[in-house]
Amino acid sequence: MATDNHRVARLLYELGALSERLYDRSRRFRANAYRRAADAVANHADDVLLMTVEELTALPGVGSGTAARIDEIRRTGTIARLEELRALDPYGAEELLRVPGLGPRTVARLRDALDVRDVAGLRAALDAQRVRTVRGLGPATEQRLRAALRDLDLDAEADDTSLPIVDAVGHATRLTRLVRRLDGVVSVSWAGDLGRTSDTVGTIDLVAAASEPARVLRAATAMPAVRDGADVAESAVTLHSFEGPGVRLTVVPPGRLGPALIHATGSPGHWRQLARLAAARSLRLAPDGLHGVDGDLIATPDADAVYRALDLQPVPAEQRDGTDEVALAREGRLPLCAAVGDLRGDLHDHTDWSGDGRMTLRQLLDAAVERGWAYVAVTDHAEDLRINGLDRDAMRRQRDEIRSLRAAYDGLAVLHGAELNIGADGTVDYDPDFVAGYDWTVASVHSLFDLAVPTQTARVVAAIRNPAVHAIGHLTGRRIGRRPGIQLDVDAVLDACAETGTALEVNCHLDRLDAPADILRAAAGRGVVVVISTDAHRLGDLDNHRWGVRLARRGRVPREQVANTWPVERFLEWTRSS
Ligand SMILES: [Zn+2]
Ligand SMILES: [Zn+2]
Repeated sequence: MATDNHRVARLLYELGALSERLYDRSRRFRANAYRRAADAVANHADDVLLMTVEELTALPGVGSGTAARIDEIRRTGTIARLEELRALDPYGAEELLRVPGLGPRTVARLRDALDVRDVAGLRAALDAQRVRTVRGLGPATEQRLRAALRDLDLDAEADDTSLPIVDAVGHATRLTRLVRRLDGVVSVSWAGDLGRTSDTVGTIDLVAAASEPARVLRAATAMPAVRDGADVAESAVTLHSFEGPGVRLTVVPPGRLGPALIHATGSPGHWRQLARLAAARSLRLAPDGLHGVDGDLIATPDADAVYRALDLQPVPAEQRDGTDEVALAREGRLPLCAAVGDLRGDLHDHTDWSGDGRMTLRQLLDAAVERGWAYVAVTDHAEDLRINGLDRDAMRRQRDEIRSLRAAYDGLAVLHGAELNIGADGTVDYDPDFVAGYDWTVASVHSLFDLAVPTQTARVVAAIRNPAVHAIGHLTGRRIGRRPGIQLDVDAVLDACAETGTALEVNCHLDRLDAPADILRAAAGRGVVVVISTDAHRLGDLDNHRWGVRLARRGRVPREQVANTWPVERFLEWTRSS
């Protein structure tokens, strides 16, 4: 391996990461191009600094722009643009960039004019009313920033330095790909918050299996995405990436993977209960493996093997929360939850008939066939949603088009539906006769998020009691890390669902994961019917069932209670009767 290649790869990776971090997401494409190029360079056998620009562009993933950057590194030892970005002090500015409404440009201005370098400095400058003296900023900016800092304080009280899972997953996916490619790595799994599919992620916990862990740990600190590695221990290392939260990488030999995964996924309470059960069987459960009476290692290549060795039903990662799951597993009473392969359809999908949908009706139906679904519901926005909603005429025309398409999609039941808007008083769009014409309806809250609990609850319960409503979409309306959910009397809402048979949706969007796990758990206990829906607006969203399935597992929803696991006849009969 040419040693210069690592240095070059790192510079390219950092350039991509910083331009995305310091500017906006529109740079993501270019950032990804740099990441890909970094990868190609790191894995290339010959020294890239000895190659011509023409030879460089022949490498997969290296375009002419990147080749020019590499040439620049050859001539000057660095990349001028990267030095500019570094001068913005991206790592020091991190704290300031987390203040809502504070972008890199303003951060740079505040630093240059007032020497503001962190949130404390910003607070002092606001108190002294000095922010308004900076060109381009004024008293209105001061007011806005003060409000933003107050919000930030509230977040801090909630002890949250963690990232919404939707953001963490992007980082984790890239890192997983890099680790998987290291020499000798057999597998890489997500543990910790990601393994449990928590709403937010503090540390990205990865657990890899490899026969020579020490070698992999050393190689990992040299990955292009990594700024530096710290706390290198026998089987784990903390990595600071150029982007995203900290990373904890644990590497163990394949036969010890089970305990390492369970230990890294937590919770501490769950681990303690398992260790106690092991001790009662004269076994010793440690992060480095399960040991027998004589100290010999009992091979446990996955988590399930550990549970089996302890005479337990396997506890899925999403349920390892240290409550009563171990007790239930001892009695074999953990519910059987749905897997992605159990889902036979999707019941909340937008097409380009809605202003915000990005796939055509045919594309949606083709994708449904490709996935082997037996049914799919087209649920474009209804008219009360001003920008994206469809009026009656458009809905009638869509219904006709679906009718004419059905002949071409013979193994697929295509339901014409709508995503109705729950109004202030709980009524929905159109009039009851028109709404009764749909095969399937999802009703959701898209407005008035701040109503008092009794009013909000009455509003949602009225929608649940509406005989034309089949399911309640994204119950709380939360956007993780951006908008809290509406406040509801959850018991009253779930009782109404149980009583009327109206289903509760598990919305698969990673920034929603709505209804939240604790509500799902309560719903499961009451026998409420659940649907796991992607709420797809584009084709790629149709793969999001995997997230909803994990959320439903966190909520311990039994598969039997998930309506879109049912065979088509049963499902259709249910939609007609409920
Ligand atoms: Zn919606
Ligand atoms: Zn929707």
